[in-house]
Amino acid sequence: MLKAVTRCLWSNPVAGRRMMSHHVPQNLSGKVAIVTASTDGIGLAAAEALGRRGAHVVVSSRRQANVDKAVSLLRSKDIKVIGTTCNVGKAEDRDKLINMVRNIEQCGGVDILVSNAACEPVCFGNILESTEEVWDKILGVNVKASFLLTKLVVPHMEKRGGGSVVIVSSVAGYQPMQGLGPYSVSKTALLGLTRALAPDLAHSNIRINCVAPGIIKTRFSAALWENEGVLEEFLKQTSIKRLGQPEDIGVVIAFLCSDEASYITGETITVTGGMNCRL
Ligand code: NAP
Repeated sequence: MLKAVTRCLWSNPVAGRRMMSHHVPQNLSGKVAIVTASTDGIGLAAAEALGRRGAHVVVSSRRQANVDKAVSLLRSKDIKVIGTTCNVGKAEDRDKLINMVRNIEQCGGVDILVSNAACEPVCFGNILESTEEVWDKILGVNVKASFLLTKLVVPHMEKRGGGSVVIVSSVAGYQPMQGLGPYSVSKTALLGLTRALAPDLAHSNIRINCVAPGIIKTRFSAALWENEGVLEEFLKQTSIKRLGQPEDIGVVIAFLCSDEASYITGETITVTGGMNCRL
């Protein structure tokens, strides 16, 4: 056995280095994973965590230049990856993404969906001033698209005998953030969507879970951490006195997608450094 491992390390020095330095289990080998909004931040970290565990990853976001950058970054880390543009709010983009993944030459099916996209929180303000357009956009991208993408992948997961879906919610889904009313409500809806889908998906051997990050250092949350005063206020609410990093979320997503989580469905894991999360 030792001989076999040694031979493998000699014949593949990159894999050997990775095995020895990180000890990441290759428990997603042979799986195909779609991660939406995965050219930056949490989505990119999730793609990397899944790829490091052996999954063939499909990254996407709205801008081709971002997709190209993410694909070459992940390839430089020895991860099997392809990419395409996909604005999850557009039906034709969602179809294009799924068609690409089911294409035999590209991937030949799908086992994992991470629904991570959300509208950027551009409209800070009093919830009573939010317009119908704002609600349509936020619920469309954050909630409806998560459902519609899940619905699209189910038949393909069934063909593979099952699968795993992870939806990215937020601590704001538990405690609405001031000035981010519609966004927070959309994130609460994702907790409900996860629960609503779990029993039906279980019939097809598909698990669905949710991750609710706290404040994670990405471009998306810059308004919360760029200003020292605001950051200090947020850190008062955490037990672990630091901002989260995208990798803190990526590894939890990868765990939920793996067989180690085979008895977990309909759940939300909060990854917040100890912020109070209660509905
Ligand atoms: P980020 O670092 O700013 O990355 C956002 C990613 O989403 C980019 O790849 C962007 O690329 C893509 N994107 C934006 N709109 C899209 C759309 N309509 N369709 C497809 N891709 C889209 O953001 P993040 O902080 O990682 O946020 C990811 C998720 O985590 C979101 O659901 C967010 O609500 C959640 N979250 C974040 C935090 C936090 O503190 N950061 C906390 C709780 C929850 P393009 O510009 O090329 O489209």
